[in-house]
Amino acid sequence: MRWMTERRAAGFDAMTDLPSGVRAALEERFTIGLPEVEARTPSEDGAEKFLFRLADGAKVEAVYIPAPRHRASGSSERVTVCVSSQAGCAVNCAFCVTGRLGAGRNLTAGEILGQYLVVAREKGFGPREANVVFMGMGEPLLNLAQVSRTLDLLEAEVSPRRTTVSTAGVVPGIRELARRDHRPNLAVSLTAAGNALRTKLMPINAQWPVEELFAALEEWPLEPGRRITFEVVLIAGVNDSPAEARALARLVKRVPSKVNLIPLNESAEWLPGLSRPSRESVDAFGSHLASSGVDVTVRWSKGLGAAAACGQLKGRETPGRLLRVPPPSVRS
Ligand code: SAH
Ligand code: SF4
Repeated sequence: MRWMTERRAAGFDAMTDLPSGVRAALEERFTIGLPEVEARTPSEDGAEKFLFRLADGAKVEAVYIPAPRHRASGSSERVTVCVSSQAGCAVNCAFCVTGRLGAGRNLTAGEILGQYLVVAREKGFGPREANVVFMGMGEPLLNLAQVSRTLDLLEAEVSPRRTTVSTAGVVPGIRELARRDHRPNLAVSLTAAGNALRTKLMPINAQWPVEELFAALEEWPLEPGRRITFEVVLIAGVNDSPAEARALARLVKRVPSKVNLIPLNESAEWLPGLSRPSRESVDAFGSHLASSGVDVTVRWSKGLGAAAACGQLKGRETPGRLLRVPPPSVRS
């Protein structure tokens, strides 16, 4: 594994400290390969989307996000790589383009790690220079065996403190992840505080409602100084009212946390009828949270017009796989 991750060996014959019989046996049984880059879409802010074609033709996407500008202290920040864990997603959130693809399939640890390795090779960064976030296509906690293996392998390059797994709220997966020795950061896509609205937006809430989710989050072992991140996708007229902000504030304060507000990335084709709130209502929503004592940041993915933003990843043009699952109805 070290040969492949740290030293980027392209074949078993390069692994000269292994006996030749072992190398031959490996050669017979395994292949070393990285996902093939089918397209790259840079955006003006320096971010870049990579569309990968996997061995069976499945397509997934990863996003490279450059380091923020140097801070006043002069410390240089790390770049971020956002990886996919599944080709599609069965969770079917009403606001998510990936959900429209349907379940797709689980990626292997090699396919997940491979996205990071290719982006590192192409963008020219090395070990300890990146954060990795599992926020691309798919629900990582519905592919926990392979995601867990990826986390193990990634540790050679990226500290768990620099790794974030984002979940729609798969409670058994959260509990299992909590038992790891080296835990990644946890991000939870919350989006609404009440069960009725949350189930409309995220059907998975019917299976693991808000109380069960928070029972698991209250038991999530947080090292001092670490916090859970809540992601809230804001949709105009759906979940952006002051009352919703107050309900969210009450809820998230049950655990040490911060909130990322993500104004909806629209898609006329894939998410008809859903729109991004105005800047004023996003700001007002954020102020309501902040004045209730919640640490809140707004993530405008504006530079990612090339559909590289969160929830816009759809591994387009996947032949025979484009299911177009109808979204759950949000306004009824
Ligand atoms: N399945 C995991 C991780 C992938 S989704 C999860 O749901 O957390 C990554 C993030 O993109 C989630 O926070 C999700 O809420 C957000 N997202 C999905 N669709 C979006 C959209 N249309 N606009 C903005 N963010 C979106
Ligand atoms: Fe799946 Fe996450 Fe999209 Fe929901 S938001 S459909 S869980 S990828």
